[in-house]
Amino acid sequence: MSGVVLDPLATIGILGGGQLGRMLALAAARLGFKCHVFDPTPDSPAFDVVHRVTCADYTDAEALDRFAADVDVVTYEFENVPAQTAMFLSSRLAVLPDPQILATTQDRLVEKTFIGSLGIRTAAFAAVTQAGDLPAAVGQIGVPAVLKTRRLGYDGKGQVMIENGSDPRAAWREVGGQPCILEAFVPFEREVSVVAARGQDGAIECFDVTENEHRDHILKVSRVPAALPAAAAQRARQIAETIAHKFDYVGVLAVEMFVLPGGELLVNEIAPRVHNSGHWTLDGASVSQFEQHIRAVAGWTLAKPVRLGRVEMINLLGSEIEDFRRWLDIRGAAVHLYGKSAVRPGRKMGHITRVFPD
Ligand code: AMP
Repeated sequence: MSGVVLDPLATIGILGGGQLGRMLALAAARLGFKCHVFDPTPDSPAFDVVHRVTCADYTDAEALDRFAADVDVVTYEFENVPAQTAMFLSSRLAVLPDPQILATTQDRLVEKTFIGSLGIRTAAFAAVTQAGDLPAAVGQIGVPAVLKTRRLGYDGKGQVMIENGSDPRAAWREVGGQPCILEAFVPFEREVSVVAARGQDGAIECFDVTENEHRDHILKVSRVPAALPAAAAQRARQIAETIAHKFDYVGVLAVEMFVLPGGELLVNEIAPRVHNSGHWTLDGASVSQFEQHIRAVAGWTLAKPVRLGRVEMINLLGSEIEDFRRWLDIRGAAVHLYGKSAVRPGRKMGHITRVFPD
């Protein structure tokens, strides 16, 4: 349901209180909005910076009712919001982007089939619903290949490589014997993403294509602009625009892609939300991905982003946070800490952005 136009002082409801919810709420506050964050985890990072919080389970109908009554629009910071929760809320008020989109992006098989239906390439894939499907899938896709759970995978969780000579049944056990896809391993030259915003009027604004370096499947560094020929960068933006239009999307989405040695692009994943590879926009662009998302769900006109230089974003993962002070006096470095008390290996604790002359 689109057609929402909020005035400042309105309340934006955010499902999910992680660092993305926190940065969305900070951007909303700058535009005069209040935020109400809903998250089942008591020490959610976004709780520290918002007007109102609900700490309850996503299936708590009474809590959802009160939340719906208090907010003017609902959005989310993560894509694994239970479909039931999103549907419950959307029967009461506008939920943006449309929860129908979650049904596509929460399931890798449905997502990749959808992307292919738009004439956009992905890695070759095959459905693996039960262990018995594996031999045929390996025969079809070949090795090396990656076995990925269809649902609830992120940052490399729920993924196992199958190499020449390795036992596919062991991989199946390792991912917990859940419905999966088997995906061809892509010998990519680099990984890039496009963070795009689409307004309620259908206007789209893409940030410049970002190059992403992962360590242990977790984003470590993003660099903008990506080292891509102009034609490939243009094609990357076009892919994000095609997906956003097809979804009739409202808000910010990110499309992660592999770049093959010849410059061809394969889409890996769609994130229907603000994205870690867009954090550089907080300091490196005239408008951030967070503000663009808030503008879109508020029914406001999108800003036309201008990149302010060559930008590097470095994630502070796990215990790296203990060393954050070393960035404080580095010229051009902006320090962002998420207020998380528990340090766990690989946990996203904060990030640094550095802007250099182009
Ligand atoms: P994902 O959870 O699908 O986004 O995967 C996380 C990371 O694992 C990606 O950013 C890649 O670095 C790597 N990866 C995932 N799928 C593949 C693949 N089919 N081929 C090569 N690398 C992959």
